[in-house]
Amino acid sequence: MRVAMIGTGYVGLVSGACFSEFGHDVTCVDTDASRIAALEAGRIPIFEPGLEEVVARNTKAGRLHFATDLTEPVAQADAVFIAVGTPSRRGDGEADLSYVYAAAEQVARAVDGYTVIVTKSTVPVGTGAEVARVVARTRPDADVDIASNPEFLREGSAIEDFMRPDRVVVGVRSQRARDAMRLVYRPLFLNETPVLFTDLETAELIKYAANTFLATKITFINEVADLCEKVGVNVQDVARGIGLDKRIGAKFLHAGPGYGGSCFPKDTRALVALARRAEAPLSIVETVVAVNDARKRQMVDKVVAACGGSVRGRKIGVLGLTFKPNTDDMRESPSLEVVPGLVNAGAEVSVFDPEGMEEARKLIDGVAWCDDAYAVMSDADALVIVTEWNQFRALDLARVRELMRVPLLVDLRNIYTLDEAREAGFVYHSIGRPKVD
Ligand code: NAD
Repeated sequence: MRVAMIGTGYVGLVSGACFSEFGHDVTCVDTDASRIAALEAGRIPIFEPGLEEVVARNTKAGRLHFATDLTEPVAQADAVFIAVGTPSRRGDGEADLSYVYAAAEQVARAVDGYTVIVTKSTVPVGTGAEVARVVARTRPDADVDIASNPEFLREGSAIEDFMRPDRVVVGVRSQRARDAMRLVYRPLFLNETPVLFTDLETAELIKYAANTFLATKITFINEVADLCEKVGVNVQDVARGIGLDKRIGAKFLHAGPGYGGSCFPKDTRALVALARRAEAPLSIVETVVAVNDARKRQMVDKVVAACGGSVRGRKIGVLGLTFKPNTDDMRESPSLEVVPGLVNAGAEVSVFDPEGMEEARKLIDGVAWCDDAYAVMSDADALVIVTEWNQFRALDLARVRELMRVPLLVDLRNIYTLDEAREAGFVYHSIGRPKVD
């Protein structure tokens, strides 16, 4: 099949590259000329493990191409995927759909012959129907079907998630579109991956309900962690004890500084806005949003309290800036609250992240940027772990202790055991676990 992918962000580039790995002829289109120039030169504009190899292999095989102009690729395509951003709209939390509708209009102008236009971006209920109207208005003669195919990949393991998903969800309105989408995902059908065909609206809601459920699970364990700290219980034991129950499951029960990233914050807000508009408010999700927002700010108070009530003039090292490991994505990362919060409270902050520094420099001011993990802690009064990169899990704690002025570790990801911290001679504050001192 011939596929055009509109947008080469995390989702568009990974999906496009993986479709070419399936054997399709794929052109990835982006209006950002620098992105396309980089891709054409064999450089990957985002950090995503394994992506470079998939892109290189399929480009070499002549199945994966890049373009800034969608006209030609869309005209030749059997399926066009719209994978542009749907950020939060300022003020009301609704998803900003302007990029989706603009792309739909451009695609409509260029289609030639029967084409399925597929929304891959995360979009509220009703967007697919509106895309259909935009297309019909722009090109009343076009022979098209509209489909909704939300993406569930996670940054950091995106290739594996795309190639071996738990399920694929496809919203369609016609048998013809269903058949076309079956061809697109044929290798997964052969794998017996569950593929769920629904109408457009159901597919749209499944995506938001899934992300919101996961955000709720995280927020639940975060609040349980706060309770654990008050009553002297270890949240990791509680998480294991409940997670072994198959009805609950062990995943997404890691207490931390609050969820961030490009999806959970905006998707929870968008579902809240949609539900209010539909006069079926989701009060649980509203609370999740409020609790999570407050939590990121409370992490600053936690560090300040660990430092004895003030960080003014203290040297604080921060390890990890991205919203999770194995990505360079800084969107709505807890570090964006924690680091400025500490700077504003008068601390001298040094930071390091293995992949996020370039993005972080655009978003964070007034800190010292270090070249490696150990550099942030020299002479420090406290070390704060914000993102659980593997290299931070394997620090030489004896060296850390030697480098620091005061052996105070505030671990917002629980990456060390209490015994490890104790044996290395640290005062150790973590999330939902007893303090070591
Ligand atoms: P992104 O912001 O990283 O990338 C979007 C890209 O689209 C940009 O490069 C932009 O230049 C390009 N673009 C915008 N308008 C265009 C147009 N008219 N023509 C061509 N290119 C255009 O976004 P992302 O993180 O890949 O997310 C895309 C969508 O997928 C969002 O709706 C998001 O919610 C959803 N999603 C994201 C993830 C994730 O982990 N990032 C996972 C699942 C779903």
